[in-house]
Amino acid sequence: MGGRAPFVDVEGAVRILRAGGLVGLPTETVYGLAADATQPAAVRRIFETKGRPPTHPLIVHVPSAEALSRWSAWSSPSARRLADALWPGPLTLVLPRAAAVLDEVTGGLPSVAVRVPAHPLARAVLEGLGAGIAAPSANRFGAVSPTTAEHVQDELGDRIDGILDGGPCDVGIESTIVDVTGDVPRVLRPGGVSVESLQDVLGAPVLVAGEDDGPRAPGRLASHYAPRARVSVVDERDVAERVRAWTSAHPDSTTVVLAPRALPEGVRGGRWVEVPEDPRAWAQTLYADLRALDAAGVERAFIVLPVESSGLGMAIRDRLLRAAGPR
Ligand code: AMP
Ligand code: MG
Repeated sequence: MGGRAPFVDVEGAVRILRAGGLVGLPTETVYGLAADATQPAAVRRIFETKGRPPTHPLIVHVPSAEALSRWSAWSSPSARRLADALWPGPLTLVLPRAAAVLDEVTGGLPSVAVRVPAHPLARAVLEGLGAGIAAPSANRFGAVSPTTAEHVQDELGDRIDGILDGGPCDVGIESTIVDVTGDVPRVLRPGGVSVESLQDVLGAPVLVAGEDDGPRAPGRLASHYAPRARVSVVDERDVAERVRAWTSAHPDSTTVVLAPRALPEGVRGGRWVEVPEDPRAWAQTLYADLRALDAAGVERAFIVLPVESSGLGMAIRDRLLRAAGPR
């Protein structure tokens, strides 16, 4: 920690990106660690700054679907329909790459991930730069994604060149990634656009990738989005028993329970934090909740999983299972 990055405006952010620097950039999903996607050295700095393995490809953010031809080709009518209906927004499409796309961005894959973000400041920076922006989440590899400018400052302030403060992110979790290079669109990572919305647009079912197939993707690792606190996800029925067992065996451990409702009678020892029951509302605060655990020095967290895996419930369940994944 220590050093702080200057807060910059849109023009300042564009200047830094042109010069090959890194900017903490607000998007509607989470804050991105942004670099000009056409500058190899700048893109390599993203990987060094995050501690991310260089073979994990990045998402390229573009100002509009019309700007896509520089980066990729439309693979299918489905790809087009999804883009027309859901861009700008929290949807990333994996498409065949154009020849000019840097290997640093794609990890050498024949495909490239692209998205048109909806956040007005991200859009302004894209317009100003006139190129694509490579931007993974602005956090150290494996850690919790940032949803405020202060989160970025705390975690990467000493390693980047500027931060554009766009306030708290609207969606709060990452984009839905859909591979549209095959015959049937396949969700590689659930996120801010629900599977139901995709199917509504297409009027047909989509595939959802399982835990153990699919290409390299950090968001698909067993442990990811993880705070320092040890996290267990629990069913609402079991939470009382789990917390009681833990706190009686570890009376001195700081323990927190995150649950959408007041805990059942008989839960002792843990501090209870109420989270919103509506998945859209919880998604907005989920990562801030996880960061707050670490800020408060919590050692052990029990989190009650949302039961519904429809809508944003699917993405929340996915992130919590990975936050609780084996380290
Ligand atoms: P992040 O920027 O860390 O939220 O993650 C970007 C996600 O997009 C990662 O899970 C990547 O693996 C995924 N991704 C990027 N490019 C591709 C690609 N060409 N094929 C499949 N997944 C990709
Ligand atoms: Mg990330």
